[in-house]
Amino acid sequence: MLPLVALVGRPNVGKSTLFNALTRTRDALVHDEPGVTRDRNYGVCRLDEARPFVLVDTGGIAGENIHLESGNLAGATARQARAGAEEADLVLFIVDGREGPSALDEDILRWLRKASRPTFLVVNKTDGVDARAALAEFSRYGFSDVLAISSAHRQGLDELLAQVLAKL
Ligand code: GDP
Ligand code: MG
Repeated sequence: MLPLVALVGRPNVGKSTLFNALTRTRDALVHDEPGVTRDRNYGVCRLDEARPFVLVDTGGIAGENIHLESGNLAGATARQARAGAEEADLVLFIVDGREGPSALDEDILRWLRKASRPTFLVVNKTDGVDARAALAEFSRYGFSDVLAISSAHRQGLDELLAQVLAKL
């Protein structure tokens, strides 16, 4: 079985963009509207041909969805996202380096601590901003593994890939 890496984060931080960049497909829906990704999306990252891994885009975990347990779509999506993260060998917790920390990020952070999977903090959208300042804004989250990237501009992806493969 290939190792499993889960992308977790609130809507609109760039999970689907990163999923596409790593899997080079358009399977994951990229859209400006928050929360538009409904389904768990699986793909295989083969950027290092010798060491493929499965990537799951857990769109829908964030926001009000995280509190819902009922049989509606949002609740089902949140449960599915949690399942994706709980079975992962490594979680990439994606945040928005332009907007900085938000209450939704902190909801997810609390849940991630309970899940206690190995987790990297990935600060996305650092194109055109001071990446070090963006990272510093999230330092209170207490991660030792932190990376600044731009999914949209494919910046930092080689380093991300190297760090991921070192952990798997
Ligand atoms: P998701 O909801 O977390 O899956 O986020 P998406 O991948 O759908 O991206 C949400 C929006 O952020 C889209 O308009 C993307 O084009 C934009 N976006 C994603 N990654 C980056 C990035 O690295 N830099 C910038 N500037 N925008 C990005
Ligand atoms: Mg998405």
